[in-house]
Amino acid sequence: MVANGEQGTNDRAANELSILQQQIRQCRLCQQQGYIPVAHPIVSGRSTDRILVIGQAPGHRSIEKDQPFSGPGGMVLQHWLEAAGFPPGYLHEHTYLSSLTRCDPGKHPNGNGDRKPGKPELLLCRPYLEAELRIVQPKVVLLLGTMAIETFFGPVKLAQIIGKYQERDGLLLLPLPHPSGVSRWLNDPEHKELHQQALMILARWRSLYSL
Ligand code: SF4
Repeated sequence: MVANGEQGTNDRAANELSILQQQIRQCRLCQQQGYIPVAHPIVSGRSTDRILVIGQAPGHRSIEKDQPFSGPGGMVLQHWLEAAGFPPGYLHEHTYLSSLTRCDPGKHPNGNGDRKPGKPELLLCRPYLEAELRIVQPKVVLLLGTMAIETFFGPVKLAQIIGKYQERDGLLLLPLPHPSGVSRWLNDPEHKELHQQALMILARWRSLYSL
């Protein structure tokens, strides 16, 4: 049962988040400034979610479905969550899905995978991520891939950071490799071991914090 004061705080957070998500959906800054041909921001999550995922940027499949992590990367990430003890469906039903930018940056000019969002796009989109973290106040943040990890940890090699975590003001930051099929980092058995260590940390938090 939720006490009245707590319910009021939850309601305020839900309202504030709803306004923020509307603002994000209406954002056209990167299109107006010529970084992408068409802005189509997507958002997903609730103010009560305890885990917040930060990816790089949505791909075209997620934009088509209007739902982050709708492509193969989302299936892999759900699989990782299940390996850490979370139930099927947890990713889309109970996890706040955020990213460094909210629009599809398009294909890489050389045709090899998706283009990484540039620094100006990252700067334009960053306030939305800051606002989500402030409103949702998750217990755990999963940082997916080098770009998201370096945003919080600075320049670092994946092998030096996967399998470790950091606590900042009660917020638990857990770096993970990017789950998209493009990442070949997990082909190395030593990297697989580090990845397993990261999932074990997540499994421990699941029971410790009732995630
Ligand atoms: S990527 Fe972010 S800042 Fe750029 S248009 Fe989309 S929502 Fe706006």
